[in-house]
Order: sequence, then structure tokens, then C-alpha cells
Amino acid sequence: MKDYDVMVVGAGPVGSTFARYMAERGFKVGILEKKKEIGVPLQCAGLVGKKIKDVNFLPEKFILNQVYGAHLHSPSGTTVSVSKGEPEAYVLDRVAYDQFLAKLAVQEGAELRLNHKVEHVNIETGEVYLKNAKFSAEVVVGAGGYSSVVSKEFNPEPKTVKAAQYLVDMGEDTFNADYVNLYVNSEISPGFLWVIPLSESTARIGLFSNLDYSKLNQFLNGFLNNHEEFKKATILKKYHGIIPVYDPKKEIVKDRAILIGDAASQVKPTTGGGLNIGFACAKMASKAVSRAIETGNPQLLREYQTEYRKRFKDELKIQLEVQKSFELLNNDDLDFLFTKLKKEGTENVISQYGDMDSQSLLVKHLVKSGLIFSVLPKVIFRRISNLWSSF
Ligand SMILES: Cc1cc2nc3c(=O)[nH]c(=O)nc-3n(C[C@H](O)[C@H](O)[C@H](O)COP(=O)(O)OP(=O)(O)OC[C@H]3O[C@@H](n4cnc5c(N)ncnc54)[C@H](O)[C@@H]3O)c2cc1C
Repeated sequence: MKDYDVMVVGAGPVGSTFARYMAERGFKVGILEKKKEIGVPLQCAGLVGKKIKDVNFLPEKFILNQVYGAHLHSPSGTTVSVSKGEPEAYVLDRVAYDQFLAKLAVQEGAELRLNHKVEHVNIETGEVYLKNAKFSAEVVVGAGGYSSVVSKEFNPEPKTVKAAQYLVDMGEDTFNADYVNLYVNSEISPGFLWVIPLSESTARIGLFSNLDYSKLNQFLNGFLNNHEEFKKATILKKYHGIIPVYDPKKEIVKDRAILIGDAASQVKPTTGGGLNIGFACAKMASKAVSRAIETGNPQLLREYQTEYRKRFKDELKIQLEVQKSFELLNNDDLDFLFTKLKKEGTENVISQYGDMDSQSLLVKHLVKSGLIFSVLPKVIFRRISNLWSSF
């Protein structure tokens, strides 16, 4: 007899959501979390598409701000604005939200142990080892983020990018809190820099990229110094974090183990966002795990991987191609692209077809309508169209 039906390693937002689904179904669920306090320190910009309400609970008290769209800026300052004229995304109090999701799982009966770091797992037997303890479970769920100890049992080290972020206060100066501002620059490709308003005077300003932390901070400081509106901003806090890169080949099921969330690299290649996709996958996984436990057949866990790939592979593949394409552009190309996007009236098309969580519809429209031919610099068009030859 095993100690638990399911042992979840990691009480991040995705692990806690999965644990709640399983506890709601009446399974005996354990959660092991290495931190003393859930969600601390903050490692997120907290921007999520409004579809979050389709994939999880989101009480209003965790929404610090809602935004209507984005201003996208080229390196030399051409701005493309996209908006559907209604709230498109929420800016969350991530620490409080993570703690709320864990509390919901516990309320449904999951047993949460804080300050419990898992050292390694045996994915064939379902045994989970800590320094001074051991637990057994029918299914072990790796939800420990990019450095998941469960993933290490059957996957190579994941590729990752680094992120740095400041919380800034503008003092008496205010800015428009209805829009997110995003800045592209080939120095930080495939990432970008974001200014996400929490209020009219505070914002999270950060970036992700292949660079190391000192270069990220250098870029961030340079940005603040070079932009008049941020020159007087006070930096209240500094954060940093690691984002896994989506890998279409990653195995997310093996023997008695599955991976969810960042541990499964379930992250949007274009933005690095992982909350909405992670929540959707937690629900999907809970169905396969339930069937596997009820029938005593761990083989059924594979249904999760099959369904995940079926549902997300195309979207994530297109996002990967978009990201790779951006990586090919130097700053002159980016300026050319933005100028053309404005001239061709593409802002309206992006506003209509664009979506924070899925960009395939927009990309397919740009390709089919031929708009892509007029906005991309000719020199690189052939290289980019090769990348896109598959759709
Ligand atoms: C700077 C930054 C900005 C971001 N901005 C956004 C954004 O705006 N929108 C968005 O959607 N996403 C964003 N993301 C991504 C988002 O934060 C992640 O996708 C999300 O946190 C994934 O949740 P998770 O539960 O899978 O993993 P995590 O949040 O990483 O949680 C994993 C948990 O497992 C625990 N753990 C790890 N190893 C062990 C172990 N061995 N034993 C026990 N416990 C363990 C950790 O302590 C942690 O609590 C951002 C990420 C970064 C770094």
C-alpha cells in the first residue's frame, strides 16, 4: 500500500492547481514544497491573458491592474499599438495568488508540507526521497519548475533563458496604466523588455534573454537612463528568475511520473508566459492520472502526453518559428519591420487576430493575406520563409 495516490513535487501555481483537481476527485494527494513560504520571492511579471478565467479561479482581489493592449516599440522608437478596446490581460499579485491556489488544494484535502525539498525520485516505483524521509505514491508529479528533480530522471537539462525585473515607483510622475509597453532590440533577442503597469505610478520593468544576469541588469539600467520618463523612477525591488524554453521533443510522461507546468517546459516561446498553458495542462493531466490510478494501469498516463501534444503542438511550433525569425533580425531589420507594419495598416490586423495566448491565427492570416511579404525585410525573407515552409 502506497502512502499517497499522487505525490506532487512543487507547490507552484501549476502544481497546486493540479493537486486541487486530484483532491476534488477524492484521491489522497501529497504536496512537497522546498520553500518555507509559497511564492516568495516573486519571479514573475504577473501578466496573464484574460483566458485565465477559463482555466482557473481568479478572485478580483488578486488583480492589481487590467490592461487593454500593448504599445510595441522598435529599437529606434517606431511604435505599433494593438488593442481590441477591451481588457485583454490582468496584472496579478503573483505571491498572494500562488498562496491562494495552494490553500484551495489544502481545503480540498491535499496534504501540503513546506520546507520539504525532494532530493530524487524513483519513477519506476513511485518513491520520493528527501534528506530524512521517504514517501511512496502511485503517481509522482513533477511540478518543480525549470529545475524539476522529476524531469531530471528522464530528460536532459532543459534549455533556459534568464530574466531580470525591477519594481519601480515613478513618484509624482504618472503614466498610462491601461497599456503594456514592450521594447524589442536585437541585443536581447529572442527576448524583449517589458513595462507592465501595476498602477499609474508603479510598474514592473523587466526583460528576458540569452544573456547572463549582469548583462541583463546592464541593459535594464541603460533603458531606465535613456528613457526620459523613467529617469526619476525609484527602484523599489530587484528580482531575477529562469524561464525554460519550450521543447517539442520533451518527454512529459515516463513510468509512474508525469511533468506539468515549467517542469514540462509548458511555456509560450514568444513571451515566456507559462501560467495559462500550465493551468490548462494541469486539468488535462488530472484526467489521465485519475484514469491511471482508478484502473491501476500507469500506461494510461501516456494519454496526457498524447493529448498535450495534439492540443498545443501546432500553436507552440508556430510560436517557436516566430521566435526564431525574430532572432534573425538586426536592429535595422526590426525598424524596417515596424515602419512597414505601421504603413501597411497592420496594427488593425494584429489587434483583430492577435491574442496573448495564441498567435497562430495571426501568423496564418499574415501569411495567407500576403501581408507578411510586404512587411519583412527582403534580405531575410527567404530565410524566414524556409522556417515557415511547414505551414
Ligand atoms: C521573471 C519572470 C517573469 C515571468 N512573467 C510571466 C508572466 O508575466 N506571465 C506568465 O504567464 N508567466 C510568466 N512567467 C513564467 C511563470 O512564472 C511560470 O510559468 C510559472 O511560475 C510556472 O509555474 P509552475 O507551478 O510550473 O512552477 P514554479 O512557479 O516554478 O513553481 C515550482 C515550485 O516547485 C518548488 N520546487 C522546486 N524544486 C523542488 C524540490 N526539489 N522539492 C520541493 N519543491 C521544489 C519551487 O520552490 C516552487 O515553489 C515569468 C517567469 C519569470 C522568471
